[in-house]
Amino acid sequence: MTHAVSGIAFGSAFRRSSGTARIWLAGAVCAAVPDIDVIGFRFGIHYGDLLGHRGLTHSLTFAAVLAAVVVALVSRDGTSGLNRGALWLYLFIATASHGCLDALTAGGLGVAFFSPLSNTRYFFPVRPIRVSPIGLGALMSDDGLAVLASEVRWVWLPCALFAAIALAWQPAAVPGKRDTREIGTRSVTATKARTSGRSLESRFWRWLFRRAERRTIFETTCSTTSGSGRRP
Ligand SMILES: [Zn+2]
Repeated sequence: MTHAVSGIAFGSAFRRSSGTARIWLAGAVCAAVPDIDVIGFRFGIHYGDLLGHRGLTHSLTFAAVLAAVVVALVSRDGTSGLNRGALWLYLFIATASHGCLDALTAGGLGVAFFSPLSNTRYFFPVRPIRVSPIGLGALMSDDGLAVLASEVRWVWLPCALFAAIALAWQPAAVPGKRDTREIGTRSVTATKARTSGRSLESRFWRWLFRRAERRTIFETTCSTTSGSGRRP
């Protein structure tokens, strides 16, 4: 679950191109998928093996491939307005964040970041996160609650902070989207007033929406006789 939180948090940085709940859900699932390798224990696969826990499924290669597969699946469903490159990058980061968090834990073996090229296991030099016990019963114990507290402190809070900064960083996006819907009902002057006085980035969005607005007004004028909204 903590992995899913980090997956969603990174999505906030890609809000413009991948802002639907569905994409965020895909990021959360991608961030949780690497632990699918625990089923290997049932089949006699050892922790340190290529397919062992924190092995291949925790590698950067796996993250790249999984992201590509999910992008292909989502694109096939015809989700509109997606930037495939940005979506791939988001899902790659979401999946890779899993291995990075595991490498910050104080327990078990390290993470095989470069599998299948190398099965060497790595930890980061700093490992503040307590390793999570497996199973709900174990999680409800005193030790489990201490682990949860450690995850909240080292993962949930930083993720919330990251998401807050990422969302605050894109002030022009929300008015921009609203403007697109309001095209034809408000004047260009009103749009200018709402989006004026912002950064270089917002100037780009303003320019883009002014262009879109002019085009829509032109099309509206051509298709109806009312001609409402024709302004310079
Ligand atoms: Zn893991």
